[in-house]
Amino acid sequence: RAGLGEYAFPVLIVNGMQPGPRLCIIAGVHGDEYEGMEAVRRVLHHTDPATLRGAVVGIPCVNLAAFETATRSSGIDGLNLNRIFPGDATGSLSLRLAATFLRTVIREVDALLDLHTGGGFGEIAPITIVQSGYETLALGLGQAIGHELLWMGGKWGGTARISALEAGKAAVTVEVGGGGGCRDETIAAHVDGVRSAMRYLGMIAGTPTMRQEYRIVSGTFDRATSGGFFLGRARPGGECGAGQTVGVIVDPFGDERQIIDAPHDGLVLWIRRRASIQPGEETVIFGRVERVITS
Ligand SMILES: [Zn+2]
Repeated sequence: RAGLGEYAFPVLIVNGMQPGPRLCIIAGVHGDEYEGMEAVRRVLHHTDPATLRGAVVGIPCVNLAAFETATRSSGIDGLNLNRIFPGDATGSLSLRLAATFLRTVIREVDALLDLHTGGGFGEIAPITIVQSGYETLALGLGQAIGHELLWMGGKWGGTARISALEAGKAAVTVEVGGGGGCRDETIAAHVDGVRSAMRYLGMIAGTPTMRQEYRIVSGTFDRATSGGFFLGRARPGGECGAGQTVGVIVDPFGDERQIIDAPHDGLVLWIRRRASIQPGEETVIFGRVERVITS
């Protein structure tokens, strides 16, 4: 770019022949989460305007400045776009990006699906994040994604999801896969979730993938106390019992520096896939099943 170009985000729009809701699907809020980016393109390229009710607005990569550096946060100002909403139209690039996205896109749509993955160095179970306190607006949409795990959460603020909800739009975050690649099965999981949500919203024919039961989970992050080589001994979505070893950190000779045991019965929501680890970095996100709900 060398100061010659303008920063922008790509937008694909399919306008249906029939009236209906306007759904925005975004990916690439984090620049190292690739499968959602391809899923947005596939959904938009394969949505037929002749049969679509409403409109689909797809943004395959919101945060190109993070994609270009293959990082979670922006390569320009170092900010995590999903912690700084609603942004600031006079701030640094990421702050302007958040403000511009809200002003030009969110204001114009009725619902938002924010597609994520476990990031460049970890893999996450299929899970839909529904913001606590906004169940009336978003729980049905979250259930319609079809993932059995619902994380009622994110106590942290500054997400695109919260800003959209505060604007009165149904909005959920969808997580699956990750680890730095772009695997077909993860792309397909995102595409299936989006299509099911479109059926729930009445935009395309068919019935959404509603499950009889959903597990509501909360998550706790385990962080390394020692640097070294991380070896995972669990898979995302797998059950774990209290005290069960789900990962170890070894030194260059293979001697154990740290053993990561499950703090309680539950499941592994996310596990590190990058072997190199520094003190303070995430090893595992443990999930506790808080309750089970029916659709
Ligand atoms: Zn993300």
